[in-house]
Amino acid sequence: MLALASEISDGLDGKGVAIVKNDEILVDQMSGSKIPVEAVKPVVESFVARRKDPTNYSLEVSKSGIIVHYKGLPKAGGKETIRRLPPGFLQCSLCGFLTKDEEHLIVHIRLAHEVIR
Ligand SMILES: [Zn+2]
Repeated sequence: MLALASEISDGLDGKGVAIVKNDEILVDQMSGSKIPVEAVKPVVESFVARRKDPTNYSLEVSKSGIIVHYKGLPKAGGKETIRRLPPGFLQCSLCGFLTKDEEHLIVHIRLAHEVIR
């Protein structure tokens, strides 16, 4: 987002500044200058075209200005390395076997991994 914001700022020739705010970029206009969407749109589009996830970006024109939204912000802690269990499931820590039933999991561990309880 910072890279996109700096590209937008560069593309505006000093008429405005792009500010990163959470997962949005707000295009802040300098007083007296009205930045048309046409000035921002091509900068955003060319940036987005180089990304791996172009569908995560969207451009919104509101009364307060031009806002670039980004939907694909990874959650803190690097969720890509965490394998999430489907809700309600228990997982065998030895082989990854999934079941909804705790007793089933115990039976599985006993049978599959020969752990005597
Ligand atoms: Zn197992």
